Amino acid sequence: MTTHQSAIEVLKNKSKHRKTEILPLAKCLHLVSADEVFAPINVPSFDNAAMDGYAFRFEDFLNELNLQIINEIQAGTDALLPLKKGEAARIFTGAPIPENGDTVIPQEDVLVENGMLKFQKKVNKNANVRQKGTQTQKGTLILKKNTKITAEYIGFLATFGIAELEVFAPPKIGIITTGKELVKAGNSLENYQIYDSNSVFLTAAFEEIGLKLSFSIWVDDNKNELKNAIQENVEKVDVLIFTGGISVGDYDFLKPVLDDLDVQESFYRVKQKPGKPLFFGTLNNTEIFALPGNPSAVVMCFHVYLKPFIKEKMGIESFTKKEFGILMNEYIKKSGLTHFVKAFVENNKVEILNNQLSYQMDAYTKANAFAILTENQEHFQIGDKVEVIKFRN
Ligand code: AMP
Ligand code: MG
Repeated sequence: MTTHQSAIEVLKNKSKHRKTEILPLAKCLHLVSADEVFAPINVPSFDNAAMDGYAFRFEDFLNELNLQIINEIQAGTDALLPLKKGEAARIFTGAPIPENGDTVIPQEDVLVENGMLKFQKKVNKNANVRQKGTQTQKGTLILKKNTKITAEYIGFLATFGIAELEVFAPPKIGIITTGKELVKAGNSLENYQIYDSNSVFLTAAFEEIGLKLSFSIWVDDNKNELKNAIQENVEKVDVLIFTGGISVGDYDFLKPVLDDLDVQESFYRVKQKPGKPLFFGTLNNTEIFALPGNPSAVVMCFHVYLKPFIKEKMGIESFTKKEFGILMNEYIKKSGLTHFVKAFVENNKVEILNNQLSYQMDAYTKANAFAILTENQEHFQIGDKVEVIKFRN
């Protein structure tokens, strides 16, 4: 048995091996850049009109000329004719300013009669022109390494025509759920069956950090079937996650099967409640987590171990500094294991919630954190300082 601190240390070290990958821009949401990007073009890439109106030479305005309208420039078309003295062009938002033109007056501010334009309002030089490179000059650093890619970043990069990015590779993840008693939602239950919630939770939890599972399958509590399922699927993913079957019951076959397959064990069994049977190891290039079956333990193991491990691999610092809070209620436990209790934390005040047993999921409708109640202390009093791991605000 190991301590949760040592287990976290193991995962911290393993998660330092980060792979990078070049992905289409649209696939980079929630990922982290692994290289710098410099602007391949100026933005705007040409001088263009910011308003629907008329483009002209500012000196003609100073000389109080009436202007002849020589052509019309629609957005998406070339300006074609340069402006000569005394000439203006009808122009629309986003259309290129014609050569020699420098200013646009909105259509509301002029009078047009017989193809001639009269200024009705004052206008400043360069007004209503978006000049080339005024947002970003070609060659400027537009994306630093280690930046989390948001939808807004994707929109910004798209204005430069960036089609792909080098990012820290999102790990490929597969789930194998075990347990003869499990039934999928939508089917009725016999009175010895329960609904599978672990695979449903894990699918959603990974989606919340931007990852879609490569597969999620169910395998019966049967040694050969388990072994076949692992051999068939392990190479498809970077991280393979099991729930159930890793404990010590007569039908918990996972540990002997992992041993049979020469999975290299990093840790098995952690001095914690819930989640004591947690296993982590490696088979060739695949990292293997075996989580207990109890749903409350699965949520805890996800937030405390799995999620930070996966996020670190994606370039997001996640095994963060310790946080503490003050207990608002009493709690009694046995010594020997560290308890991760479901809690609601606000302004550093820690409320330990009811229904802490590992089959009980209802406290998660309120919980936003785990309070870590240390191994050897039995009686926790109001006002005690405890470490917390927040998983939601
Ligand atoms: P095990 O670790 O396989 O002994 O399972 C521990 C407990 O978790 C048992 O009560 C199982 O019925 C329950 N359990 C196992 N897998 C799931 C699952 N996918 N969804 C909900 N409960 C589960
Ligand atoms: Mg089981």
